Amino acid sequence: MHEGSLAYSTATALIEYAKEHNIKRATKVEIGIGELTMIDEEIYKNWLIEMLKGSPYDSAEIRLVKEPVRFKCNICNYSWSLDEVKEKVIENICKEIVDCDTPIHYLPEIAQAYVTCPKCNSRDFEIISGEGIIIRSINYVE
Ligand SMILES: [Zn+2]
Repeated sequence: MHEGSLAYSTATALIEYAKEHNIKRATKVEIGIGELTMIDEEIYKNWLIEMLKGSPYDSAEIRLVKEPVRFKCNICNYSWSLDEVKEKVIENICKEIVDCDTPIHYLPEIAQAYVTCPKCNSRDFEIISGEGIIIRSINYVE
């Protein structure tokens, strides 16, 4: 899938950051993987390690952490997680889709279409986190 290109943009951002901050050797990097980012983490990590060879991150520990998705209502400003609306989303999907055995985390895009604000029922909301990949922290020695 797109693990290679995601790893490439992460590696580019990391190396860029190291240059800007004059980092000679990073010891640990924590990367947040959004809940809605459908990637094979193992493949992504292997690509990333490969691309960081010979860089200041060569021997750094690469940690991937799940970044939970959060929605925010544009009408009432309430914000919520996917867990909070999971049951309702599954219920809504099951009304329209016959095969309801597929776990919801395999269906992030479909699930999104069935999300409504738990407070005011609006479909006018934004995703404020849990999409894409973010570099959460970099530990390094001077
Ligand atoms: Zn609302």
